[in-house]
Amino acid sequence: MGCCFLLHDGNQSVMIDAGLFGEPVFIRRLFRRLGLTPRSLQAILLTHGHLDHAGNLAWLKQWSSATVYAHTHEQAHVDGTYPYQGINRWCGRLEAAGRTVFGTRPALIDQCLTDRQMLPFWGGLEVIHLPGHTLGHCGFYSARHRLLFSGDMFGSYFFNTHKPPAILNSAPELFPESAAKIRQLKPRWMVPCHFDVLDGNRHRRRFAKLYGFDDWEAINSTHELHCDGRSDV
Ligand SMILES: [Zn+2]
Ligand SMILES: [Zn+2]
Repeated sequence: MGCCFLLHDGNQSVMIDAGLFGEPVFIRRLFRRLGLTPRSLQAILLTHGHLDHAGNLAWLKQWSSATVYAHTHEQAHVDGTYPYQGINRWCGRLEAAGRTVFGTRPALIDQCLTDRQMLPFWGGLEVIHLPGHTLGHCGFYSARHRLLFSGDMFGSYFFNTHKPPAILNSAPELFPESAAKIRQLKPRWMVPCHFDVLDGNRHRRRFAKLYGFDDWEAINSTHELHCDGRSDV
């Protein structure tokens, strides 16, 4: 349904999001392939607490003993107690059904994130608070790579690049401000959590078009980010 990411730089490993159900098989396999042990994982960063991003959190936290970082507003999502309002109630109903089907357990956020906080992982990751989808939705920006993990600001598929469906958004009026924040940041590469191929250039171009911006990298963009099995993304 979506992607979570393992960032590994030789000394440290950190995961962005934890996935939903079935991820333990893939995560274990990936760790084995990279010669990592569960204890190699130092942190789990949550973009937000929706079930498809945090459903596997309790397992991952217990398996690795890693510290969980997320915005404080996301704890209620992780716990399944967020008071969804209006059309957004459908999100709560879907999550409640998912929790029952997958036997999801809650997990505690250990460290609360704030906007522009610098995290000492992967050469430095900056927390970019991007509310709209949820109130505590955050992206993670690597200045070293000019790469933004943009969470659920948009889904990026060749047949349909879209903002999250209305039923999934808790504060949709905040999307424009969050999008403008990304525009100001000017990442070279963007990696959302729902996409077709791992190509950060393509996702940035699609994001700019979707939100009505000119592509800020159009002139001097020469690099492509691909998932080739050897990348550290
Ligand atoms: Zn979401
Ligand atoms: Zn999602």
